[in-house]
Amino acid sequence: MPIFEFKCTKCGEDFEKLIFGNQTVRCPKCDSSEIKKKMSTFGMSGVEKPFAGTSSASCTSCSKSTCSSCH
Ligand SMILES: [Zn+2]
Repeated sequence: MPIFEFKCTKCGEDFEKLIFGNQTVRCPKCDSSEIKKKMSTFGMSGVEKPFAGTSSASCTSCSKSTCSSCH
């Protein structure tokens, strides 16, 4: 989802919007088109990786799933 963060330069309102194509973005508060796009990946970051913190990962040097002998 192409979600972007914007800030209105007129009233200072911060808002997020889904942008499709060359859609004109307007401030939801004062309807101004004088807005700045903020560099942000909000909505995409902050997601934890599914394998982070996994302790049951298979060993690469042996075929056992849990190995305390080869590490
Ligand atoms: Zn505004």
